[in-house]
Amino acid sequence: SETVLVVGAGQSGFQAAASLRDKGFTGRVELIGDEPGVPYQRPPLSKGYLDGTAGDEQLRLRPEDFFAEKDIRLVPGRVAEVDRAATRVRLEDGRRLDYDYLVLATGARNRTLPVPGADLDGVLMLRTRDDADRLRVSLEAARDVVVIGGGFIGLEFAAHAGRPVTVVEAQDRLLARVASPEISEFFAEHHRAAGHTVLLGTGVTALHGAGRVEAVELSDGRRLPADLVVVAVGVLPETSLAEQAGLDVANGVVVDEHLCTGDPKIFAIGDCASFPCVQAGAATRLESVQNAVDQARSVAAAIAGERAPYDSLPWFWTDQTGAKLQIAGILSAADRTVVTGDREAGRFSVLSFRDDVLIAVESVNRPPDHIAARRLFTAEPRPAYADLEADAFDLKAHLK
Ligand code: FAD
Repeated sequence: SETVLVVGAGQSGFQAAASLRDKGFTGRVELIGDEPGVPYQRPPLSKGYLDGTAGDEQLRLRPEDFFAEKDIRLVPGRVAEVDRAATRVRLEDGRRLDYDYLVLATGARNRTLPVPGADLDGVLMLRTRDDADRLRVSLEAARDVVVIGGGFIGLEFAAHAGRPVTVVEAQDRLLARVASPEISEFFAEHHRAAGHTVLLGTGVTALHGAGRVEAVELSDGRRLPADLVVVAVGVLPETSLAEQAGLDVANGVVVDEHLCTGDPKIFAIGDCASFPCVQAGAATRLESVQNAVDQARSVAAAIAGERAPYDSLPWFWTDQTGAKLQIAGILSAADRTVVTGDREAGRFSVLSFRDDVLIAVESVNRPPDHIAARRLFTAEPRPAYADLEADAFDLKAHLK
C-alpha cells in the first residue's frame, strides 16, 4: 500500500492527514512535526489563550486518541533532508522514512527585527504555543509593553494583553498589507479608544538595555521605556526543505493549480506554499486557517484519486476585543470602495471593487454580510458595481 508523509504537524499538516482518512485513503499516513504534543491551532494564541479565557483543550485540534483511531502515526522530529531520487526523507536524528507522496506543510517563521538590541532579554515573538507561554509569564511582570508591528498578530496581542500597550507601526496605517484604508482607520480608532497608544509612520532603530530590554528607540529619535517588547513584523515561509530538495521557491514553495510542486510526488500547502490564486489572478501566498484547511483537503482528495484544480475562496477573520473583522475575497489593487452599515456604531462593511467587479468584502461586527459575501463570491459571474448599487449595496438583499 502507499505511504503519505506529511512534513509539519500544524494546521494544514493535521488537516491533510485527517482528510486523507475522510477520503477513504487506506495506506500509511505519517505526520512528522517538530513541536511538542499533539497538533494544535494558532489563532487562540494571540486571543483567548493569551488572556486566559482559553486553555490547552481549546488549542488542540483533536484529542490524542483521534490519531490512533484514524491510524495516523504522529512522528516527533524535524525533517532535515528530502532525497527525491530515493523518495525518502531523513530526520535530524538520522531516522529515514520512505514515501509515495510527500506533503510539505512546513508553515512560516517569524521575521526578526534587523536592529541592534533585538536579541535582548524581554524581546519576544509569537508563533508557537511555547512563545505564547513565555509571553503570558512576561506580561504578568511587565510594566511598559511595546508592540512592534501593527499587523494582525501585533494588534490581537494588544487587544488581549489586558493593559494599555504602545503599538509602533512603520507604515502610515495599521494592517497596511491586508486591509483597506477604511478598515485601518477604524482599527486605529478602536485601539486608541481602548487606551492603547498607536504610533504610525514610525520605525524602530534600536532596542536598548543591559542584558534586558529597557527602551525602544524610534526613527524620530524618541525613546520609549519598555521592559517587554513584542516583535510582530510578519513571517517568512519555511522553505528550507524545498530548497534543499531542489524545488522551485519564490516567496514560498512554488506549486501549480493542483498544489503540486515540480515533482509530481511532492505537494506544498498552507503558509509555506505560493499557488496560482484564481481570485488574485497571480501567484499568491496566504497566511490563514481557511487557506491551510482548504488546501489540505484539496491535496488529500488528489492523493485519494479525486484530482481537481484548487479554487477555494480566500476568507479570514481576526478578533480584537469588541471588533471582529471578517474578510472575504482578496483585496488587491481595488480602485473603488463603498462603506455600508453603521460605521459610527462599529458595525459596517467595506466593499472593494476593481474594474467595477466586487473583489473583497471586509465586515466589522457584521457576520451576516460576511456570510452573504462568501455566497456571492462563489456564484458566477462576480457581482458588478451597478447591480449592487441597484440593491443599495445590501449584500443579503442582492442574494435574493
Ligand atoms: P503552521 O501551522 O505554522 O504549521 C507548520 C508546522 O511545521 C510547525 O509546527 C513547524 O514547526 C513545522 N515544521 C516546519 N518545518 C519542519 C520540518 N522540517 N520538520 C518537521 N516539522 C516542521 N489565521 C486566521 O485565519 N485567523 C486567525 O485569527 C489567525 N490567528 C493567528 C494567530 C497567531 C498567533 C498565529 C501565529 C497565526 C494566526 N493565524 C490566523 C494564521 C494561521 O494560524 C496559519 O495560517 C496556519 O497555522 C498555517 O498553517 P500551516 O500548517 O501552513 O503552518
